[in-house]
Amino acid sequence: MIVSGTQLAKEIKEKVKNDVAKAVEIYGRPPHLVVILVGEDPASQSYVKGKGKDAEEVGFKSTTILKPDTITEQELLDLIESLNNDDSVDGILVQLPLPAHIDEDKVIETISLSKDVDGFHPLNVAALWQKRDCIYPCTPKGVIQLLDKAGVKIEGKKAVVIGRSNIVGLPVSKMLLDRNATVTIAHSRTQNLPSVTSEADILVVAIGRPKFVTEEMVKPGAAVIDVGVNRDPATGKLCGDVDFDTVAQKASVITPVPGGAGPMTRACLMQNTLECFLRRQNDKR
Ligand code: NAP
Repeated sequence: MIVSGTQLAKEIKEKVKNDVAKAVEIYGRPPHLVVILVGEDPASQSYVKGKGKDAEEVGFKSTTILKPDTITEQELLDLIESLNNDDSVDGILVQLPLPAHIDEDKVIETISLSKDVDGFHPLNVAALWQKRDCIYPCTPKGVIQLLDKAGVKIEGKKAVVIGRSNIVGLPVSKMLLDRNATVTIAHSRTQNLPSVTSEADILVVAIGRPKFVTEEMVKPGAAVIDVGVNRDPATGKLCGDVDFDTVAQKASVITPVPGGAGPMTRACLMQNTLECFLRRQNDKR
């Protein structure tokens, strides 16, 4: 079964759009998402464009702020502070990565917790790990929704996550754990990786290496979620971390790249922005 992230993202955005229409009736305005892009990295430009397009599609007010990569760290922090203090702004996202002279941690910490639509603020991360109310980071949230859409039972299953980054590997592992999977986190120092992955009922791959996971590494009938976004060195086309053609023969569920975790990340950003908006409106009451 190939689970289309594109299709599920469409359904999620349709639901957000309906909820936005209701929110406008109740609160008199739609949620407002501000995305800041520093510099002219083509991949970041394309991600930011996609986020703006989705935001408009669901009926948000969408603002993209473009800054040259000569902006100082302090100027960027001041800009974020002014957006924090702007009551008409509900979500703030700073596209990563940032130029080397800007401390990403400082930037993430400066975004108001109540407007942290990416779920990267340290207090949001702490809340996730303490199983408290939080904004779930977009990509991991998308992974879990893809599994649910495919009807994969998570509870009691053996899940292996390859990758331990703060934005994908670690939070997705925690979210699987909270759904009562038994989770193993693999990484670049894991010994005999195929022996670990071939035990997995659920395999989530977030490495950043084209077609790294091959058929021999996958348990027959496993659910495989491919988060990776790479260029295939042979064709130059987009591909995932999983060798889709061979693994699809063995897995019971698999996500394609493109069209899997990518569109889901954007759809979850729309869900998170609506959530931040509704929380802020309810806090005012
Ligand atoms: P990252 O920060 O570079 O982390 C990569 C992880 O993979 C690290 O934990 C690393 O282990 C592990 N790793 C690298 N080589 C390995 C190997 N040979 N065997 C086992 N583990 C290995 O990357 P990331 O930010 O998590 O992103 C991972 C991929 O997902 C990238 O392709 C990225 O573009 C993609 N991504 C997609 C979306 C989306 O919306 N679809 C969002 C975010 C990321 P160590 O910790 O030991 O170094």
